Amino acid sequence: MNNFIIDGKEISAQIKEEVKKEAERQKEKGKSASLAVILVGNDPASKVYVKNKKKACEYVGIQSLSYELPEETTEEELLQKIDELNKQEDITGILVQLPLPSHINEDKIICAISPKKDVDGFHPQNVGNLSIGRSGFISCTPAGVIELLKRSNIDIEGRECVVVGRSNIVGKPMAMLLLRENATVTICHSKTKNLKEVTKRADILIAAVGKPKFFTADYIKEGAVVIDVGIHRDEKNQLCGDVDFEQVVEHTSAITPVPGGVGPMTIAMLMKNCLNAIKD
Ligand code: NDP
Repeated sequence: MNNFIIDGKEISAQIKEEVKKEAERQKEKGKSASLAVILVGNDPASKVYVKNKKKACEYVGIQSLSYELPEETTEEELLQKIDELNKQEDITGILVQLPLPSHINEDKIICAISPKKDVDGFHPQNVGNLSIGRSGFISCTPAGVIELLKRSNIDIEGRECVVVGRSNIVGKPMAMLLLRENATVTICHSKTKNLKEVTKRADILIAAVGKPKFFTADYIKEGAVVIDVGIHRDEKNQLCGDVDFEQVVEHTSAITPVPGGVGPMTIAMLMKNCLNAIKD
């Protein structure tokens, strides 16, 4: 089957170049973006994510400030830090790296960030805006998926899109965004019956179940577009996604690899959100 591999590295590089140019234009107008990143604890994966976000900021010309707080930080102390940053005019974006230690209520923390500085797009006000078609910050990973599809010239309008996963940061906003693009959208989750029957209807399948190589060829309609949001390490410690790429690729018309698909888009879209925070 004639298919192509969607190059998330290339597309994310294009977006970062665009953000860089726009950041320069904004600076000429006297406006500059700055991102405050808060990390609580010593989770090694979170440390890598934070480092990559700082690197991306540096590249596109957005100032980044990092606050690395000890594991024992209390919820109260974290709320206080967020309150300070909300009030600081020179901070235009705030991001709290998730997951947080279990003694801190994530929902409370997300709600404490000013919606105007919520560059992750997790605050209920931004989530609500997305649902009713108002502008606001959009969760970076699903926003990145839409960019991947559009910049790969894949039509979304009128097509059957199946999203497997209904988390607040991936599945649900993904479905809302596809709906906004006029797709016919089905959301599946762990209680969905006959999952294969549903996914086999998909012209575009978005895999976000958080299970390595879950989607084998028998879940895929011949010629479908498959977008793999998952990130895992397999038995050989190699990165892999929710899709069994080797098995599925030949049945698709387009597919994202892991690594090099959705992953790099998340940071590129975060940079875009940081810049949107200072644009009129
Ligand atoms: P969650 O674990 O929060 O959600 C997983 C979803 O999959 C849930 O809605 C769950 O259903 C559903 N699910 C689990 N098992 C099944 C099953 N057997 N059949 C159907 N549905 C199932 O994960 P996230 O949404 O946070 O992330 C999904 C994946 O994407 C992960 O691999 C994560 O690492 C990756 N990720 C990648 C990012 C990137 O930048 N590329 C960013 C964020 C996440 P239920 O609600 O019923 O429990």
